[in-house]
Amino acid sequence: MKRIYLDYNATTPIHSDVLEAMLPFLRDQFGNPSSVHWAGRQVSGAVEKAREQVARLINCSPAEVVFTSCGSEGDNFAIKGTLAGLKGQGNHIITTSVEHPAVLNTCKYLEGEGFDVTYLPVDKDGMLNLEDLKKAITKQTVLISVMWANNETGNIYPIHEIGAIARENKIRFHTDAVQAVGKIPVDVQAAKVDLLVLSGHKIGAPKGVGAIYIRRGSKLQALIHGGHQERNRRAGTHNVAGIVGLGAACKLAGQGMAESAARVRQLRDRLEQGIQEKVPQIKLNGHPEADLRLPNTLNVSFAYIEGESLLLNMDMKGIAASSGSACTSGSLEPSHVLGAMCVEVTLAHSSTRFSLGPETTEVDVDYVLEVLPPIVQRLREMSPLYNRKELTCEECQVIRKAH
Ligand code: PLP
Repeated sequence: MKRIYLDYNATTPIHSDVLEAMLPFLRDQFGNPSSVHWAGRQVSGAVEKAREQVARLINCSPAEVVFTSCGSEGDNFAIKGTLAGLKGQGNHIITTSVEHPAVLNTCKYLEGEGFDVTYLPVDKDGMLNLEDLKKAITKQTVLISVMWANNETGNIYPIHEIGAIARENKIRFHTDAVQAVGKIPVDVQAAKVDLLVLSGHKIGAPKGVGAIYIRRGSKLQALIHGGHQERNRRAGTHNVAGIVGLGAACKLAGQGMAESAARVRQLRDRLEQGIQEKVPQIKLNGHPEADLRLPNTLNVSFAYIEGESLLLNMDMKGIAASSGSACTSGSLEPSHVLGAMCVEVTLAHSSTRFSLGPETTEVDVDYVLEVLPPIVQRLREMSPLYNRKELTCEECQVIRKAH
């Protein structure tokens, strides 16, 4: 059976060059970079080289990069670390209603600790109104946290404008850029970002490694206490092979970004147009302007069917996609992102995310376009909601009486 992976926003395969770069550090170069002897020295240079590679991709100084274990750790560190670092200076955070759970649940936790959180609304396309942001700022606001791009819809947020508002009001600005880094240009200087989080496994590096950019001079309390690694900002022996892999992935992403974005966008558009042509009664979730979405992401609702059934049926044909975010799949709650966009609840339940990557081909897209429409048709024929249109008046009476 064919196997087609269209779930790159959930995770990506390790790029072959990244694996090559990592292998020596999984074999003979096993030292602890904090050790002063030859084995430590052998690897500490590799960690610093990776730091430079990460820094180059997002345009900061290597000293402003701290390695973490994942995006979720980075988000927790940025938010909790800022509030602890700025203790006594204010207790208000502004974020959005469409953040990843790594941010939303951190904010919920902080509400329990006595902080006030404003969750900015979005419109039906999933976009923010910057007037809402300006109005939400109070004397107590110490942190604004807005994601660079949304993992479910692919929507790209106006980070440069938000950075300017934050800087003007002397408020710390954190952005979860886990989905943006490697897919679109990210420049922390130009965007006036103070804290930025990225994750290795979304960009062809392994799982278990990430990084946070901490603008020089930003006071941030450590999340993980222990040894003196990462200049006392993040304790724990370095995941050397993972860090080397992250550095290599950042280098690759920087080298071919414009071409790979154009290539993947063309495939995504082919998929989007093909679905629009071949499947009636669908709804595109996210900004209708393709340029305001990540080039690889397409989120569609198929009226009258259950997203999970669609996923299972596609899976049986070898196609891997996702309903809502991977982190919440398995739960029957409709996506909070689509909920915030006021997508009608049955349409939210029928939403499916296709996220393409560097390995996706035209043949893959055409296979999906061949297999998907009959699956949708078959599931619709089985759906009582779809068939309800066909009911006679007598049948409607019977249903009404039964209720
Ligand atoms: N933020 C966003 C926008 C994400 O998409 C994800 C993962 O899907 C995360 C944070 C969490 O990253 P990680 O899986 O590395 O913890």
